[in-house]
Amino acid sequence: MRIILLGPPGSGKGTQAQLLVQRYGIVQLSTGEMLRAAVAAGTPVGLKAKEIMASGGLVPDDVVVGIISDRIDQPDAKNGFILDGFPRTVPQAEALDELLKHKHLKLDAVIELRVNESALLNRVETRVAQMRERGEEVRLDDTPEVLTKRLASYRNQTEPLIHYYSERRKLSTIDGMMAIDEVTRAIHRQLLALGAVEPKTHGKTRARSAAKAAPARKAKTAKKSAKTPVKAAKKAAKSKKAAKKATKAGKRIVKKAAKKVGKKKAAKKTARKAVKKGAKKAAKKVTKRRAKR
Ligand code: AMP
Repeated sequence: MRIILLGPPGSGKGTQAQLLVQRYGIVQLSTGEMLRAAVAAGTPVGLKAKEIMASGGLVPDDVVVGIISDRIDQPDAKNGFILDGFPRTVPQAEALDELLKHKHLKLDAVIELRVNESALLNRVETRVAQMRERGEEVRLDDTPEVLTKRLASYRNQTEPLIHYYSERRKLSTIDGMMAIDEVTRAIHRQLLALGAVEPKTHGKTRARSAAKAAPARKAKTAKKSAKTPVKAAKKAAKSKKAAKKATKAGKRIVKKAAKKVGKKKAAKKTARKAVKKGAKKAAKKVTKRRAKR
């Protein structure tokens, strides 16, 4: 994937570029960083650029185009790159088109970070304060005066690129005033819509949410299986109760039957007694009658 991040100084291009590098495994090609390194190393390019940079002007097109052309040829740029701070003028954009054509490479998208200019000064002041707190060296061009000049050069020389790339249907504009992660998400959505990134980068998110969901699923299953013994125990208790009930009922029936049997036995006994009594009486009567004769 090859993209350009476009926006005035302080719009968050550098921050977003670093986040995109982590996400997509591509390299960030920042002409500002390369020029600062050249200045620090005292190379011929550095010597040429030093004064111009310190005053907030633009380094000549041929210098930056040469730097970028060499950098794109490096093996780590084969996977793709994010251009941060380049191109800054229409001639630089035309030179980039030419060199990409020559290298048989395609530009996927140009992302413009649109910001409220009045907020930029605040942002740069905050950035400087934070760098000082961390004990980092502060850029010479991060002063309110130089920033005003850099903003003017953005408006005059770089803003025409918005028209240049929108004519070529490459431009996507994103609200750079949102929170950092919201901007990153918006860029990702845009790159997905353009087909510049595979939805599999989404997969990471899905895999992450699936991993997040897994414990919840496990807990649910555990809860369910935990419920099962409870259910079984309840069932067992119920059947025990039923068995007890059945036993009680059985006992009652047996008792009743026994009672009946007992009653029958008693009746038989009574009947037998009665028969005996009756027979005795009859025998007595017969004896009496015989004695009379
Ligand atoms: P940056 O870090 O992108 O803000 O760049 C810092 C300074 O480097 C700018 O103010 C310019 O002086 C110089 N510079 C960086 N990129 C370019 C470019 N594409 N064309 C000309 N000058 C540049």
